[in-house]
Amino acid sequence: MADGEEPAKKRQRIEEQPEKMAVDVSSSSDWDGRWSHVQKFLERSGPFTHPDFEPSEETLQFLLETCKILVIGAGGLGCELLKNLALSGFRNIHVVDMDTIDVSNLNRQFLFRPKDVGRPKAEVAADFINSRVPGCHVVPHFKKIQDFDESFYRQFHIIVCGLDSIIARRWMNGMLLSLLIYEDGVLDPSSIIPLIDGGTEGFKGNLRVILPGMTACIDCTLELYPPQINFPMCTIASMPRLPEHCIEYVRILQWPKEKPFGDDVALDGDNPEHIQWVFQKSLERAAEFNITGVTYRLTQGVVKRIIPAVASTNAVIAAACATEVFKIATSAYIPLNNYLVFNDVDGLYTYTFEAERKENCSACSQVPQKLQFPPSAKLQEVLEYLTENASLQMKSPAITATLEGKNKTLYLQTVASIEERTRPNLCKTLKELGLADGQELAVADVTTPQTVLFKLNFTS
Ligand SMILES: [Zn+2]
Repeated sequence: MADGEEPAKKRQRIEEQPEKMAVDVSSSSDWDGRWSHVQKFLERSGPFTHPDFEPSEETLQFLLETCKILVIGAGGLGCELLKNLALSGFRNIHVVDMDTIDVSNLNRQFLFRPKDVGRPKAEVAADFINSRVPGCHVVPHFKKIQDFDESFYRQFHIIVCGLDSIIARRWMNGMLLSLLIYEDGVLDPSSIIPLIDGGTEGFKGNLRVILPGMTACIDCTLELYPPQINFPMCTIASMPRLPEHCIEYVRILQWPKEKPFGDDVALDGDNPEHIQWVFQKSLERAAEFNITGVTYRLTQGVVKRIIPAVASTNAVIAAACATEVFKIATSAYIPLNNYLVFNDVDGLYTYTFEAERKENCSACSQVPQKLQFPPSAKLQEVLEYLTENASLQMKSPAITATLEGKNKTLYLQTVASIEERTRPNLCKTLKELGLADGQELAVADVTTPQTVLFKLNFTS
């Protein structure tokens, strides 16, 4: 999209060329040949079309009039997705994003201009697409995904995610799994809403097509998401080699010791004074060890754990996502099965494989999850298992159990008063808490909208 030309002017320019772009009388916003690029895929057969595909004019009508798409995220991937979908003929699009526009977004999130800084991303992105692509109707939601319930998500044919958070991804995955309807253990295929999930990190990206309840879900392959990279403490403390080691030293050790902004002030990555302090101290540390490369920007990157966003990676992954949406919406081509990785750090590499469902996946398997502990184990150990186990990776699990017919919260971290009241339980053993072999524990966490049921198995 070229900058500098107002949408209204552009339309006028198009309409002034009647011999080339005659306006179709049947639909005021569709000029002759507008969808010819899409029609080539839908109105004729080809060597790569789906074996059951029958060319027809109805599919385009379905795209234009009926198909309803939800885009999660209006950031780097989201801007690309909205543009790609709108230009592919999707006109009923909703977009959810809880963020506002920051000046640092403008180099790649091309639906935003300097005047938009501070405004909600979803609203500005929707306005831009709606004014630039005639007939397209993007509905913005300046909200969190958790603000909506099942009835909202159920209205869409396909959901496509351009998120930078694994927690949000897992929550979305859990939501779509909760919409599935099973009758006598058999999945009702009409309750499946396909999820297309794109992700990028610097020069690396991935894309997956998830048919909830049928193919591998996000939690099935949770081991693929490595926990946050941390440098070994001994390196940070005694033999730094990289500028990052110096910054980590200041962040982890010096800040809590020197308390530069007072006793209870935590380091805030968005506070320029805090970053400036860490930057200066990191420079001093780096000088001591003859390390170069500490900059303000790097300091902020390390403190906020930012991986630089690369516009081209976003463009590639979003294009692949939009193609998958198109394939599924039209049934004209066989969708990706089911995981694509992309890497252009050094040369260009791309590969697809089929991620397999995990038989006892805590999100999609419907198999009761097992917790194996001796009766002498403390509740703290159970909590650590839930957060540290590679296939669970919960964030702040709340554990409840039914004891003597009553629902009892054993531990809950997210509400301060309840945390304080239940904290003593962490040091108690499972036996002391009155838990029995075979006891069911219900665990709630931010990574899922549903409660996960665990069955406690005592080991000796
Ligand atoms: Zn799963």
